[in-house]
Amino acid sequence: MHFETLAIHDGQAPDPQTGSVTVPVYQTSTFGRDSLDERSEFFYSRIGNPTRKALEESLALLENGKYGLAFGSGVAATMAALQVLKPGDHIVAGNDIYGGSYRIFEQLLRPWGVTTSYTDNESMESYEACITPATKLIWIETPSNPLLQLCDIRALASLAKERGILLAVDNTFASPYFQRPLELGADIVVHSTTKYLGGHSDVIGGAVITSETAIHTAIKNYQGAAGAVPGPWDCWLILRGLKTLKIRMKEHEATAMHLAKMLEGHPAVEQVFYPGLASHPQHELAKTQMSGFGGMVTFSLKGGLPAVKKLLATIKLFVLADSLGGVESLISSPAKMTLWALSQAERDRRKCTDNLVRLSVGLENAEDLEADLLNALGTP
Ligand SMILES: *Cc1c(COP(=O)(O)O)cnc(C)c1O
Repeated sequence: MHFETLAIHDGQAPDPQTGSVTVPVYQTSTFGRDSLDERSEFFYSRIGNPTRKALEESLALLENGKYGLAFGSGVAATMAALQVLKPGDHIVAGNDIYGGSYRIFEQLLRPWGVTTSYTDNESMESYEACITPATKLIWIETPSNPLLQLCDIRALASLAKERGILLAVDNTFASPYFQRPLELGADIVVHSTTKYLGGHSDVIGGAVITSETAIHTAIKNYQGAAGAVPGPWDCWLILRGLKTLKIRMKEHEATAMHLAKMLEGHPAVEQVFYPGLASHPQHELAKTQMSGFGGMVTFSLKGGLPAVKKLLATIKLFVLADSLGGVESLISSPAKMTLWALSQAERDRRKCTDNLVRLSVGLENAEDLEADLLNALGTP
């Protein structure tokens, strides 16, 4: 069956008791038992809840994986996926990853004896050069944040398999509508469902999807033991978002492409980073591992930070905010917002310059967004 059919039907059959076409919100902490001898599927909502189960099944199907697990946030999902590691293990990660993932690697894992090396996202050779006998996991984000660089998932998956290393992909930016890493050989997919999957900027959530039973069992055990689970209402909101993922992603992409092309020709703009542009250095790779290029556009301004400040002060429709993937367009300064907590040296290493602007292109009319951007860019 096709993606949008799965998104609406799978894991979401009408409620057997009442026929309710949407999965009910099972707002309960516990479930009554018939007797001491029987333990039904659901007995306590930290361990399992029917609304969460529907979401987990739906997420697994959309990523074409066997198992899905939902978490209370994207970083909780990241932390859960990292439970495949133990002290002494080593991670190789792309250098342009989500700031919160970097914080987990450096502030939470390093003191527990799990170390991480960061490498150039775009080069297979640099990933290979970072691998040591202790490397157990390669962690990538593609497209990356905020520079929208790509990693070759197929090539990294085969390198990882050869060396007995797991490959985890944070698929938040592309969404499973445009990219399914498990189909390309990855072992684990992680999402911040806060973003495109929820899609309406009204809920925080995360997910881990895999087809490998041993990995799933370990992470599920961690989910129940550590308890960073989403409540049933949050699961319901994300389930509702999934049903319109396809039509939202297509529209996000069409408008993002329109704006990226306009920006590329604008005299105030230094460079545009969007995998859908022929000028993107990995445009060919994008075409082979993604079925679309997404709704995120990053660009740099010739006038530096003062020009960024002027743009942000003048723009009207784009809301100045962190986060992404919602129906409303958002604009941000990666250096001053999402990556502000990093040191200057760390930002320099990541080529996160002060003149960058990141757009999460929403579902407003493309011409209205274009006019807003043109007005805010002014005449240089
Ligand atoms: C937002 C985000 C996260 C973290 O998700 P939260 O839901 O904010 O905890 C992880 N990875 C990427 C790529 C993100 O954009």
